[in-house]
Amino acid sequence: MPLKVKRRRRSLRVAITLISGLLPIVLGTVILHMQAERALKQSAGQTAEEAVRQFNLMLDNTAQAAHELLPLAGQTCNDVKLALREQVTRRPFVRSTNLVWDNNLYCSSLFGDYQETVNPGDYTQGVLWLMNGNPVTPNTALLVYRLSNGKKGALTTLDGFHLSNILRLIGRHTLLLLQVGNNWLAADGRVQSSPLPDLPVAQTRLTSEHYAFTVEAGFPEGETWRYMSSEYPPLFSLLMFFGVIAGFISHFAQRRSTSPTHEMHRALEAAEFVPYFQPVVHGDNKRWSGAEVLMRWKHPKEGLVRPDLFIPFAEHSGLIVPMTRSLMRQTAALLAPQSASFREPFHVGINITASHCRDLELVDDCREFLKAFAPGSIHLVLELTERELIEPTAITLQLFEQLHELGVKIAIDDFGTGHSSLGYLRQFKVDFLKIDQSFVAMIGVDTLSSHILDSIIELAVKLDLQLVAEGVESREQSDYLSAHHVNFLQGYLYGKPMPGAEFISALSDH
Ligand code: C2E
Ligand code: CA
Ligand code: CA
Repeated sequence: MPLKVKRRRRSLRVAITLISGLLPIVLGTVILHMQAERALKQSAGQTAEEAVRQFNLMLDNTAQAAHELLPLAGQTCNDVKLALREQVTRRPFVRSTNLVWDNNLYCSSLFGDYQETVNPGDYTQGVLWLMNGNPVTPNTALLVYRLSNGKKGALTTLDGFHLSNILRLIGRHTLLLLQVGNNWLAADGRVQSSPLPDLPVAQTRLTSEHYAFTVEAGFPEGETWRYMSSEYPPLFSLLMFFGVIAGFISHFAQRRSTSPTHEMHRALEAAEFVPYFQPVVHGDNKRWSGAEVLMRWKHPKEGLVRPDLFIPFAEHSGLIVPMTRSLMRQTAALLAPQSASFREPFHVGINITASHCRDLELVDDCREFLKAFAPGSIHLVLELTERELIEPTAITLQLFEQLHELGVKIAIDDFGTGHSSLGYLRQFKVDFLKIDQSFVAMIGVDTLSSHILDSIIELAVKLDLQLVAEGVESREQSDYLSAHHVNFLQGYLYGKPMPGAEFISALSDH
């Protein structure tokens, strides 16, 4: 039922709109985040590969020097020191060369004769030692390559400056570490032996296939977001755009599906608004004198909907005018074939609202309605509730003037509950007063209300207006009203509102 749908909370609708708008943004951001992580992982992998390649090349260079010098081990330092220095000069990455005999470094390119014990355990896999400087250059990284054969040995060293340079240049946006055994070197050129630091984003380790070292690459915390904000601004704008579009679509779709006005538009096109007829009888002989047409909504899911649940929305949206037009056409189609059998003008009451009085459309609708009947066979009575009196503007006065000329009667509905003045009743040339059912219900129950009822009856007589009493349910009420010369009676006592076919068959019985 649309009126239930309408009750869907505003906060829920706002939440659905927000979720629909945020969903593409959040999903898109998650996908972009995954994409950025992949790109960073790939970049870290490539950087590590390149670093390993460069370190291999440098170590090849250093190892070649050692290979050339190894056969010279055992000869006197005097005989070989030139050969040692030649390697340092010829090879770009070699900083110093040394010869070893029986684990004793006895000749160095730097000092010539020298004495220092070599401990093979210092070298990872007996070959590489990443050290934090030597007596000549303390606190300067140094990578020593060791080659040995029996008692012969050669040590060539690679300057840490070249290593940290590679770490800095290749890994411009990447954090790069070179690990040899328990020691590691970062781009700042310092050798450390603490546990290797964690690289939080895209951590990648690559071990050389030729030498005993490993390169670790990765990015600092928050790099994924930094990467996204620098690489994906156009995609972010697109996501925002899609988010806003999705939010708008959801908002309008909800409004369409939840708006009672939209639902009523649909119902009007589907001819779901149908007339029910409630008989109105003569006060004296109780014969059927006419009927009030009451609208019902035959809702496909909710069944028969009462008018007070949807009429306010229909009025608010202005749909009440086409809805009433449809009701009048259906009524004419149903009653016109019967009009030949009417012995006196049959009263047909149609409820109208202030929305009907804003222009002159109603005149055409009434003309069309009356044209369907044999002349003089019908009295069209427009019922205007007293609770919603209309302003006497030029257009309304013109409207009522034209309706009057057409022979249309005017009834003030729910009389006694509003504030219509005598002037008002005259200005709109009112023909009937419909006494509100609340006064009828008080007959024999509440003396004050009965008093008001008597005053209304008195007033109608004085103003020469015809009276209709609504909501007559008991014999006592009926008798009281008849005794007070109320012209017409309407209520469950004589008949409840009923569908057209039922009304037509009941009509022939009366
Ligand atoms: P209303 O014009 O005062 O119509 C009389 C209402 O009283 C009807 O309710 C009718 O079913 C009910 N009624 C009749 N006799 C008795 C009775 O003996 N006892 C009781 N308790 N009730 C009785 P309904 O059909 O539910 O309509 C309610 C209101 O909806 C109407 O009050 C009228 O203001 C509005 N309405 C109905 N159809 C239309 C329409 O086509 N256009 C407009 N603008 N309003 C309509
Ligand atoms: Ca009415
Ligand atoms: Ca009424």
